[in-house]
Amino acid sequence: MQHIDRIIRSKNVFTAQDGIDTARELAIAIAGDRIVAVGAPDDVIAAAPAATPVIDYGEQFVCPGFHDAHLHFFHTSVGSSPYMLMDMGTSEAALVQHALEFSQDLPDDAWVVTQGWRDYRWDPPEHPTKASLDAAFPDRPCVMYSGDGHTLWLNSRALEALGVTRDSEPPAGGGYDKDASGELTGIAHEAAAMQLLPRCLEWLGEDRIASAYADQMRRMAEQGITSICDMSLMPMPGCDFIRDDVYDKLQAAGKLGIRAHLFPTLLDDQSRLEELQARYANNALLSAPGFKQFFDGVSSEHTAYLTEPYTNPRFPGDQGRLMVPVERMRKLVLAAAERGHTVRIHVIGDGAIHAALDIFEEEAELYGLPQHGHNTLEHLENLLPEDIDRLRKLNVIASSQPCHITLDPGGPERDLGLERSRIMWPFATYKQRGIRQAFGTDSPITAVTSMNVLYTAITRQDPRSHWPEGGWLPSERIDAATALRNYTLGSAYAAGDEQNLGSLEPGKYADLVVLDQNPLTIDPQELQATKVQATYLAGNLIYER
Ligand SMILES: [Zn+2]
Repeated sequence: MQHIDRIIRSKNVFTAQDGIDTARELAIAIAGDRIVAVGAPDDVIAAAPAATPVIDYGEQFVCPGFHDAHLHFFHTSVGSSPYMLMDMGTSEAALVQHALEFSQDLPDDAWVVTQGWRDYRWDPPEHPTKASLDAAFPDRPCVMYSGDGHTLWLNSRALEALGVTRDSEPPAGGGYDKDASGELTGIAHEAAAMQLLPRCLEWLGEDRIASAYADQMRRMAEQGITSICDMSLMPMPGCDFIRDDVYDKLQAAGKLGIRAHLFPTLLDDQSRLEELQARYANNALLSAPGFKQFFDGVSSEHTAYLTEPYTNPRFPGDQGRLMVPVERMRKLVLAAAERGHTVRIHVIGDGAIHAALDIFEEEAELYGLPQHGHNTLEHLENLLPEDIDRLRKLNVIASSQPCHITLDPGGPERDLGLERSRIMWPFATYKQRGIRQAFGTDSPITAVTSMNVLYTAITRQDPRSHWPEGGWLPSERIDAATALRNYTLGSAYAAGDEQNLGSLEPGKYADLVVLDQNPLTIDPQELQATKVQATYLAGNLIYER
């Protein structure tokens, strides 16, 4: 008789397998880090040695551990640590004041770093400048980065420490704002911001970062999240902010509390990914399934690339732009495919989505569909109607972040107009057309709160304000089973690990979560009150309420 470490049973087990949309009375036998049997409790218990512990969760809901298919773990962890202030602010002055209070407790070597400002949501909605920061922080470098992560707002001390002057040449795809007299305003955009940011955080050092990671892993377990896809944050070499060194250090110390799938930036030199793949070949918790690449920016800044100009153009022909020229992206993706690697491409605007699908189509003609893993599109906010079926045809995963839907109320209508904003985050259409979806948060852009992911996917209402009643574009609401499946099995597809992960089936990892109520049967408005009772990673209980 096979040794079984434990059996988990409940009257409400949702396995997330395709085609099964209900919770059933089942038992799950676990040996080591794997599920070895799932079936009627009497059968599973009878097939196990007599002394096998049985944990009976009664009516509580059991499903696969949640999997955040797109986040940035460095900024999520450090952003929740005592070393960085997460705040959107209600105005420039209010945020600066809050930063000033926050800075009192920082170590002496620290820069003042905040994350999350969105000037279009301030009162008044005006662009900030270094003047307010210089007044508050005359002697200490201060850097505040925007809620979408694409813009930095720096004070004079930070600009000086970074060597940025009015004569500095910004990198391609980036810019430093200047006022009428040619003086720096303290705002750095896109590639310029991304290039500066790592240097603004060097003072943290590895030990502070590792403790921030360990703390964040505990918070993920409290949310029932057992897997993450840690996505490269920046396209420049050496700036992906994927800290494999920190994961390794935590694993060596027995403190790795999550399954992490790492996606470094796609560069001409593919050795970073391949080195990680070699290192993690026999590592069940750490893996490097493929590449991440950026293609365009964000709609609110008019840097998402559209096929037609923005509805509220800031200049004639304002339709955003690709951060990476098509020809360059094509070369990169095809070179990756030639070596058997998949790519997850950041695309927001319909133009970027269309161009990315053209490249995947060419890849499929040349090399066939990927043998291992899947190409994905990340965020894909507004699509051309004809591109929806191309996702399925090319077996591309639609990787979305439900909490983005209501992040900028009125923004889609303002920037894209009514017609284009009718085909945004079309989760129900994806489902009807047979397109595999993955869910995440893009944390720190939105919080990792697992119930908010499910709530917004199901209701299309904002997790905080609950706006709008009935949901934004309600025809695209999805049922709870689909939302749960996207956030578990769908994300496992995005990680290229659906053979091992994402559903409760024999042979898969014993990653599962126990909830105090059944998301499939409760009123969706009650969903956010659902509590995680227990979280298991690789067969081990890592959180219990
Ligand atoms: Zn992201």
